[in-house]
Amino acid sequence: MTRTSLTQLEARDAFIARHIGPDAAEQQQMLDTLGYASRAALIDAIVPENIRNRAALPLGQFAEPMPEQAALAKLKGIAAQNKVVKSLIGQGYHGTFTPGVVLRNIFENPAWYTAYTPYQPEISQGRLEAILNFQQAITDLTGMGIANASMLDEGTSAAEAMTLLQRVGKSKSKLFYVANDVLPQTLEVIRTRAEPLGIEVRTFDPAELAGVSDAFGVLLQYPGVDGSVRDYRADVEKVKATGAMIVVAADLLALTLLTPPGEWGADVVVGNSQRFGVPLGFGGPHAGYMATRDEYKRSMPGRLVGVTVDQQGNMAYRLALQTREQHIRREKATSNICTAQVLLAVIASMYAVYHGPQGLAQIATRVHRYTGILAGNLRTLGYRITNQTFFDTLTIATDRAEALHAAAVANGINLRRIDASHVGVSLDETVDRGTLAALWAVFATGAGKENADAPDFAAIEESAEDAFPAELARASAYLTHPVFNRYHSETEMLRYLRSLADKDLALDRTMIPLGSCTMKLNATSEMIPVTWPEFSNIHPFAPEDQTVGYREMIGQLEEMLCAVTGYAAVSLQPNAGSQGEYAGLLVIQKYHQSRGEGHRNICLIPSSAHGTNPASASMVNMQVVVTACDENGNVDLADLKAKAEQHSKNLACVMVTYPSTHGVFEEGIKELCEIVHSHGGQVYIDGANMNALVGVAAPGAFGGDVSHLNLHKTFCIPHGGGGPGVGPIGVGAHLAEFLPNQRSTGYQRNEKGIGAVSAAAYGSASILPISWMYIAMMGAEGLTAATETAILNANYIARRLAPHYPVLYSGHDGLVAHECILDLRPLTDATGISNEDVAKRLMDYGFHAPTMSFPVPGTLMIEPTESEAKAELDRFIEAMIAIRGEIAKVESGEFDKANNPLKFAPHTAAVLTADEWDRQYSRSQAAYPLASLRKQKYWPPVGRADNVYGDRNLMCGCAPISAYE
Ligand SMILES: *Cc1c(COP(=O)(O)O)cnc(C)c1O
Repeated sequence: MTRTSLTQLEARDAFIARHIGPDAAEQQQMLDTLGYASRAALIDAIVPENIRNRAALPLGQFAEPMPEQAALAKLKGIAAQNKVVKSLIGQGYHGTFTPGVVLRNIFENPAWYTAYTPYQPEISQGRLEAILNFQQAITDLTGMGIANASMLDEGTSAAEAMTLLQRVGKSKSKLFYVANDVLPQTLEVIRTRAEPLGIEVRTFDPAELAGVSDAFGVLLQYPGVDGSVRDYRADVEKVKATGAMIVVAADLLALTLLTPPGEWGADVVVGNSQRFGVPLGFGGPHAGYMATRDEYKRSMPGRLVGVTVDQQGNMAYRLALQTREQHIRREKATSNICTAQVLLAVIASMYAVYHGPQGLAQIATRVHRYTGILAGNLRTLGYRITNQTFFDTLTIATDRAEALHAAAVANGINLRRIDASHVGVSLDETVDRGTLAALWAVFATGAGKENADAPDFAAIEESAEDAFPAELARASAYLTHPVFNRYHSETEMLRYLRSLADKDLALDRTMIPLGSCTMKLNATSEMIPVTWPEFSNIHPFAPEDQTVGYREMIGQLEEMLCAVTGYAAVSLQPNAGSQGEYAGLLVIQKYHQSRGEGHRNICLIPSSAHGTNPASASMVNMQVVVTACDENGNVDLADLKAKAEQHSKNLACVMVTYPSTHGVFEEGIKELCEIVHSHGGQVYIDGANMNALVGVAAPGAFGGDVSHLNLHKTFCIPHGGGGPGVGPIGVGAHLAEFLPNQRSTGYQRNEKGIGAVSAAAYGSASILPISWMYIAMMGAEGLTAATETAILNANYIARRLAPHYPVLYSGHDGLVAHECILDLRPLTDATGISNEDVAKRLMDYGFHAPTMSFPVPGTLMIEPTESEAKAELDRFIEAMIAIRGEIAKVESGEFDKANNPLKFAPHTAAVLTADEWDRQYSRSQAAYPLASLRKQKYWPPVGRADNVYGDRNLMCGCAPISAYE
């Protein structure tokens, strides 16, 4: 017997084999099925030679795969360079306590964080209910008619509100007024968004609101960034009489005590729900929110959860008004938002559920009382507070600002930097008497009164009065729905969270074979660093010397992604793929402008593109010209060439996805890039399909100028049930100087760069460690193996299913890339069984459906990823074949065309155990079509959701409690 070498024995924590599902023997079996000797031979047959990369990924110090514990230790060392300091900086971000029960059972629970966007409502009732609770909480707190399922952050939400007003307003004005006490980062995001649309943004003193007369919209901040709480009621009426509409950016905690904007004339209310239990995380991810009047619901951007009924007439939740979104409306969509911030919205909603209205009011009142006490203390010390009114924020005049900041940091506190003669302080839920004592010490030192006696709390408390206008005290009730009043004990809360999670199918129960969405392993070791305080408790505007670790990690991740994509530089600011597209197109625009070619505004987009592509092009005011695809699903190069020639002078760029959305490595990609370049255009390669490219081919090397990546697809950030995401862009060297800044917050990457596309300089910074860990643990060898195995897995499924369902598009030798499209249309024509029926029937078999009807209507697109073991692939294949057998029975007439297990799928336990059974198939056939299901069975909580009913009877708030009983 050969003795195992010490090196082999030491390879105990090899992560690669944990991440990649099938082992070597299983891979060989699959290769045998395909008729290839090795994985390398398979890849050679699939990836065009002229783009094939044969060198190892140039990952530098991260080339060698790191064992899990070593990677964690290395990252911990980097994180340790961050200083965790109590940040009372405010400016839209506040300290908060994530309730432990929510931290462990949602934030750190794969049942929630590995779920997909709830497009399939029957297996998503838990998260849909949680999002509906979020919508209800926002609707109540803002006093508006309807709220959506989350926005990417407060800045982008405000920018979306601006364009919403343009869509629904009657004013022809191109002027948008922003109060000068807005959060500076919000203003910068608005300015970036306004410029290409020809909107002029003007700031004004909110004290002079009544004089605004020529705008289509006005944005107010409530309370203002300086802390002031202004009563706008009379002025808002005057401004509205001029035809302008009103957006209010509001603080949710303040709204528990203040009259909500919905009661004083707001048309749209936006903001951030971060301080409802979501860690600071150096700026994100957090759920932004948007609420509006009921009459604008069809124009509202983002996702919306609504109530409907299922096939049996029982209440069910679903995503409503989908026809507003990009996958239907393309460049005419209400916005390009696809991935949003679902997980964070769920956390914020559960914070409201857990605390309830009284609990929230208590927190807010305590924060306000402390702020009053602090104001009293400061006056005692001789300071002048410049804001007369406040909720939780004070602006303090001082000629010793620097000394105060230094004294504060020495006492473990960050204050807000305003200018040389003012400092700001915002109190939050985490503040206690100890914090007030520390602040006393800081300000006493700053006033040269080191020895002043500490304040007498009892006496000051007596004198601390409410410091906002009495007329603005909130009179209306909020969060009256039972869900916010019922789960206040931890036992009840724990069981509520568990009951919701149990309704849903996430990656912790089944593969989620979603084409284009890459639902791969989100490894626990990748997730662990996210909740380390060194990453989660850092304010985005903390002083640079406290964020050294963050910036080192971010710099390393940028380098890793450059190595992977072949680009020269990467910006991690965009907080979703769609935002990456928008940022990338702005960069292209800026490049053309810099060369005196700002007139170039034509964006070529193949007909097969993801809906966000045309929606993003329209955000930057480019004109979309659609190019055709041939019968093999490839971009029709002749048509593309003709259109490039036709628009040669004005060609800005092409947006293509590679490998194509049809799941094929098109041979002509290099030629495509050359055609567009020859007409002076830039090439935008949508990187959503990078899972088929990493280590095999690099977009930056084969002709791309810009790509966004979806770190929440290819690089293991979990999908969160519809967000968070990170959509970094990589660019060629000639575009690097145009990458986004966030100047208002002190982040200037390059003088020539575009303005901010997100509120925070590094977007969703706190989830970047996930991708860092993934790349560090996989190394060059592992990343390439992952890509090759993803392609192998997809081809294995395609080959096994091809005899049963036609595979729509393929390249050489019938091979596909990392996903495959099954064409259900011939079967639908013959039997009436649709792709939707198959998708719903898969739920009875315990599977999440594949992608439905994208990019081709009537099809299913399957992407297994490398993380699924052969056993799981076989289980899926077996289910699909069994379903094909059921369809055959419809074909043969053995099953009725309308009364069969497909048309009535999914089957709930209630239906199957009812005393009445009028189906023309048996109960066991419905529930246990495969013997293996008797051992493990998922029960869908509702039957098939009725989409039409839901949109016709739109209801987007919590249903009355009777509906639950
Ligand atoms: C997912 C996806 C996008 C959009 O990314 P989000 O993060 O959801 O905004 C764009 N293009 C393609 C091809 C995608 O699959």
